[in-house]
Amino acid sequence: MEKLIITAAVTGGVTTVQQNPNLPISPEQIAQSVYDCWNAGASIAHIHAREEDGTPSQKVELYAEIADLVRARCDIIVNFTTTGWGQAGDEESRLGPLACKPEIGTFTPGSMNRKDSLMINSPSFVRKLGRRMLEHGVKPEIEIFDFGMIDQALKLAKEGLLTGRLLFQFVLGVEGGIPATTKNLQHLSESIPAGSAWSVAAVGRGQLPMNLMGIVMGGHIRTGFEDNVYYKYRELAKSNAQLVERLVRYAEELGRPVAKPSEARAILGLGGM
Ligand code: ZN
Repeated sequence: MEKLIITAAVTGGVTTVQQNPNLPISPEQIAQSVYDCWNAGASIAHIHAREEDGTPSQKVELYAEIADLVRARCDIIVNFTTTGWGQAGDEESRLGPLACKPEIGTFTPGSMNRKDSLMINSPSFVRKLGRRMLEHGVKPEIEIFDFGMIDQALKLAKEGLLTGRLLFQFVLGVEGGIPATTKNLQHLSESIPAGSAWSVAAVGRGQLPMNLMGIVMGGHIRTGFEDNVYYKYRELAKSNAQLVERLVRYAEELGRPVAKPSEARAILGLGGM
């Protein structure tokens, strides 16, 4: 198996400080949390910016500031969101953070009902997103919330919009999407082209069991407050790093070495900083 790549999704666009007061919001808080996760063993930081009041933001200045603060601290791989959920804004603002040339950006190839709202990724937007990523040299992380999104992604790969080794992130347990079960993860991992890289994220109580499945199945894993704010039942996590530390311990016990950022770059075929 490849070394294990741990992604820390430290803030997200939905989690609130009411749910966990340790949620990083400001660029400085986000950068510090990313740095702590890097120290704990994460090699990728998946980032959403927020306004001062906590509102999700796609303002390019905020992403540029976060990227600078993170890169001044450590060599973690930066992954920016292009989210199509909730208050994401218009298409151009969603694409804005890509101008900062993060090494990875999220690429959701389809739409769905998500809880009581819509996550919209129209065919024309998805193609625009793919072209913009190619222009900026950003590796798409293909986020799969529902099974049909795999086929949509493979069509786009055939069109030349997704190149190199494909990287899938299975995001499980989101209401309206794929439930977080071992059967579903098995099916997903067998439904992508052989040789692709995949990682698994799951929300709420699904996070830890799906992460453990990812470790033993040879995939990669994502943790962090974006997906879950608890350390265990009724006990809030103190920090994103605490969640990363636990996974590093489990991986070591299970005999799966954890990748440093430089090793994760080689595994995913990234050009480097
Ligand atoms: Zn995200």
